[in-house]
Amino acid sequence: MTHTVPGDDTWRLHIDWTRCDGRGLCIELLPEILDRDDWGYPVSLTTPVISPRYGVAARDAVALCPRLALTLIPLRDS
Ligand code: SF4
Repeated sequence: MTHTVPGDDTWRLHIDWTRCDGRGLCIELLPEILDRDDWGYPVSLTTPVISPRYGVAARDAVALCPRLALTLIPLRDS
C-alpha cells in the first residue's frame, strides 16, 4: 500500500504488510492518513493525497515502527 506525501520533497509511504504486526502505532501517529482494516492493519483513508504538514508525522511513523514495515520513498526514485 502506498500513500503520496508531499512536503520538502514528494514521497510515497510504503507499508510492508509481510512485516506489519497490525498493532497500529502508525495509525495513532497518522490518524488523518491511516485507519484500521477489519483485522487491525493500516489502510489509507479515502484520500490518498496527504497535506505537506503530515510529512514530519510520516517520518516519525517510519522511525518508530517496531517491525520496520514503513518506508518513505522519494517519488523521483519510483
Ligand atoms: S507501526 Fe508498523 S508494525 Fe505497527 S501497524 Fe504500523 S506498519 Fe504495522
